Amino acid sequence: MAVDSSLSSPLGPPACEKDAKALRFIEEITRNADLVQERVLDEILSRNAEVEYLKRYKLDGATDRETFKSKLPVIKYEDLQPEIQRIANGDRSNILSAHPISEFLTSSGTSAGERKLMPTIKEELDRRQLLYSLLMPVMNLYVPGLEKGKGLYFLFVKSETKTPGGLLARPVLTSYYKSEHFKTRPYDPYNVYTSPNAAILCADSFQSMYTQMLCGLLERQQVLRLGAVFASGLLRAIRFLQLHWQLLANDIETGTLNNKVIDPSIRDSIDEILKPDQELANFIRNECSNENWEGIITRIWPNTKYLDVIVTGAMAQYIPTLDYYSSGLPLACTMYASSECYFGLNLNPMCKPSEVSYTIMPTMAYFEFLPHEPAGSVSGSTQKLVDLVNVEVGKEYELVITTYAGLYRYRVGDILRVTGFHNSAPQFHFVRRKNVLLSIDSDKTDEAELQTAVENATQLILQEFNTSVVEYTSYADTNTIPGHYVIYWELLVKDSANSPSDVALSQCCLAMENSLNSVYRQGRVSDNSIGPLEIRVVRNGTFEELMDYAISRGASINQYKVPRCVNFTPIVELLDSRVVSTHFSPALPRWTPERRR
Ligand code: AMP
Repeated sequence: MAVDSSLSSPLGPPACEKDAKALRFIEEITRNADLVQERVLDEILSRNAEVEYLKRYKLDGATDRETFKSKLPVIKYEDLQPEIQRIANGDRSNILSAHPISEFLTSSGTSAGERKLMPTIKEELDRRQLLYSLLMPVMNLYVPGLEKGKGLYFLFVKSETKTPGGLLARPVLTSYYKSEHFKTRPYDPYNVYTSPNAAILCADSFQSMYTQMLCGLLERQQVLRLGAVFASGLLRAIRFLQLHWQLLANDIETGTLNNKVIDPSIRDSIDEILKPDQELANFIRNECSNENWEGIITRIWPNTKYLDVIVTGAMAQYIPTLDYYSSGLPLACTMYASSECYFGLNLNPMCKPSEVSYTIMPTMAYFEFLPHEPAGSVSGSTQKLVDLVNVEVGKEYELVITTYAGLYRYRVGDILRVTGFHNSAPQFHFVRRKNVLLSIDSDKTDEAELQTAVENATQLILQEFNTSVVEYTSYADTNTIPGHYVIYWELLVKDSANSPSDVALSQCCLAMENSLNSVYRQGRVSDNSIGPLEIRVVRNGTFEELMDYAISRGASINQYKVPRCVNFTPIVELLDSRVVSTHFSPALPRWTPERRR
């Protein structure tokens, strides 16, 4: 389509007038990033001048940065928990925000084992929608012709609960997919999905995934891009195909939906598209019965130009597997967002995963940056926070946000490194989330949680077998789909005639799972995105060898600490070569959709 050249953006010629407008918007806000930030802070503080939280800190209606910074503390979730709890319990006074809290978004970050509850207000949906609306205009600059086909995206809603005060508590994407913004989105030729809304909105994960896969297969020639939110989600879809291709092929052959899919809206929406197709059924049987699944994505969806999945941060562990199934298709990481706030997007989405940088959009919230010092140096809280436009290339910071929904100087817990600037808006490499030891899907297990889990599990063998765990470490094994936690244990068995049985050690696996946080347990039970936890018992002396190895590579003997998670291949290999027995969790841990007390 010919576009007025005066509309072209420094990012490149836009694909259509609508894109030109979006790109101009990006240019405008990134050029004036500091001014936009000042305006955002002013807007947030003036509309909330009368809220209890700001009055407590005697802001007295001030909206300037200096007063704001001098009076308000930098906080973590736990600092805000009393206020959150009051809102959850039904207190509708203006505690954090002058706009009513419309619902809570349940973060995958946890506090005391439970998902954090992030307050949100209605208009935040518009802000999220705005960020989504910028993604395709940017992508169209790099990948032409996307309007000629469709996207196969595996998108899911998850269970939602109500707080005692009656507010909904659900994940941010569930909230978005169930909103009118998503359900009644206007037709956009550049953004057509193969999945019907009915399939995305079905809470039963089997029926939802089955239908989305079926539609993706039916329209396999039209699919130009394949995606899920995170890499782990796309791999779960591939695993689903491995397990269910026979059923899918049967349905395609007969042109009827099998009776495992009972959701009436799904059945209605599928009726129109599912017709008997012997040739396609044969093709699927032929491809999927082949032992070798290398390149399966490009074989089934031959016109795919890229995979749209986040592979930055903890998800980087899935890159080799995605490369294997897709014969190395480009991996596009398009955005950086959270339940607290959507942050920004990748203006060069076809770059290599290792080079991904996200440009923070200065309209989304007021952003500050806490210089991140390595452990042991100056304490973070005494450091001065830096404004968005003043961060320095090469330095690392923790992201601190002030949102329209009532978070003020809130530490997100993400560590970012500045890689450059787009106009005056900085671009960030996502370094890591603080304190995360193990992660398979959206679960995040920290060192303290692992320690407690090990302690709880060891109680099972301490009494009965007079055995203790002398050392342990862990590893996120993503060679299997879904991936699973592996915990290496070195045992001290005091009575060799009575060493712990397989049954006892398997129960230890389950006990550990029961001790882990609710996001982990939901992944195991409801989402099926995490496999059974495994304990690998290693022979005595293994952890000493591990220390010798670290010292041989330059670690100091005095300061050596057993790493509680390992991912360096030679170390994992060393541990694996010393394994004397392996044990898996024999059952699912306890999990019910959370009730918020
Ligand atoms: P949640 O609050 O459960 O939505 O999780 C949000 C967190 O997911 C962020 O704070 C990041 O730690 C992580 N995250 C989100 N987007 C990305 C991304 N593009 N790359 C790496 N990590 C991300």
